[in-house]
Amino acid sequence: MLDAFTEEQEAIRSFVERLTAKYDRRYWVERATKGESIDELWRELGRAGYLGVTVPEQYGGSGLSLRRLAILMEELAARGVLAGFLVISTAMGAIPIAKYGTEEQKRRYLPALANGSEKFCFAITEPDAGSNSFRIRTLARRDGDQYILSGQKAFITGVNDADHMMVVARTVSADEVTDKREGISLFIVDPKAQGIEKHQMDIRILMPERQFRVFFDGVHLPASSRLGEEGKGLKILFDALNPERITLGALLVGTGRYALGKAVEYAKTRTVFDVPIGAHQGLAHPMAVAKTQLELAALMTHRAAEVFDQGGEAGMYANMAKYAAAEAAIETVDLAMQVHGGSGFTGEVDLITLWPMVRLMRTAPVSREMVLNYIAEHTLGLPRSY
Ligand SMILES: Cc1cc2nc3c(=O)[nH]c(=O)nc-3n(C[C@H](O)[C@H](O)[C@H](O)COP(=O)(O)OP(=O)(O)OC[C@H]3O[C@@H](n4cnc5c(N)ncnc54)[C@H](O)[C@@H]3O)c2cc1C
Repeated sequence: MLDAFTEEQEAIRSFVERLTAKYDRRYWVERATKGESIDELWRELGRAGYLGVTVPEQYGGSGLSLRRLAILMEELAARGVLAGFLVISTAMGAIPIAKYGTEEQKRRYLPALANGSEKFCFAITEPDAGSNSFRIRTLARRDGDQYILSGQKAFITGVNDADHMMVVARTVSADEVTDKREGISLFIVDPKAQGIEKHQMDIRILMPERQFRVFFDGVHLPASSRLGEEGKGLKILFDALNPERITLGALLVGTGRYALGKAVEYAKTRTVFDVPIGAHQGLAHPMAVAKTQLELAALMTHRAAEVFDQGGEAGMYANMAKYAAAEAAIETVDLAMQVHGGSGFTGEVDLITLWPMVRLMRTAPVSREMVLNYIAEHTLGLPRSY
């Protein structure tokens, strides 16, 4: 834990301590194993006002603070409770609506997001486009006062459990625009609407949420379901993707702390050659490095959230935070398993259970390579290879 805790951090930390006394790691693992959502915990977060931290006060929240959400995620994860839906719904659903929604959209969605009665999922990835999101082919064709949505998405987390899906589509196909950044629009879609099919994917990661392929076959959407100006969705999109990177950074820092805490405890007591294994620098130094990397990643995550909250250009910070936190968490979980020897592979020690999740974060929601491409191009001004 960083020493200089602010009052705000302290309040969130003690709330999370009480909450996770009731809904602890064991509760989370049970739900995740069955693929069931953590509804009771979600409702308590809503009752305590924590789902409203990204919602302005006039719509039932406590003001748009990504920083508060990041601290909450970090503290939950540090106790082994990985609340991924906070990223998807509370960051990627609420923030774009709060910033770009019409008055009607804000009144319709934000109070329900703030009290936890409704959730959003987020759909951008397509099988053919992959990381090249400009090439998405899901098309929303204008037809009078509605749009007709056709196409498909892949890996959509929690669409089975969500009340609404934020869909990134093209209103003009990529071949028809001179500037690929044009023609992207976001839509708020009912996942149960006619013309939508969902097929669960076989993803082997311990988390309460499941992933789906989603097919849109001529889905009718009212024009009022579009978020922001038609074809100008890129700015809105990044005001969802940057918060995603930042809050996942926080989740990863917390997860790393959880794993390192276990490793340190074990290293103090496990004795193999007369002294506790933590006395061997072959283990002690990597643990010290892991601690350092996690705290550095925490600093960057908090910085990124502050820049976002102040309305600054958060892209560089968000990418660096996500990169640093993912690499630190991957190294830390791997090390924690090494410290535990063979026991590191048991369900009881509960470290191998974290591995797929932290490893995922080198690949998704944005891969390590695409993060580094961003920093190379936008921060260092290097030419682009693709
Ligand atoms: C468990 C899980 C949950 C997910 N949840 C969601 C969700 O809720 N919503 C959603 O929309 N998506 C979701 N995704 C999708 C995820 O965001 C993508 O898998 C991710 O963005 C990578 O895209 P891709 O799989 O198409 O890989 P690809 O784009 O095909 O990339 C493959 C490899 O090539 C590399 N590569 C590609 N282009 C370059 C380049 N120019 N330079 C260097 N390397 C490059 C990549 O870094 C990667 O290593 C989820 C994925 C998983 C596995």
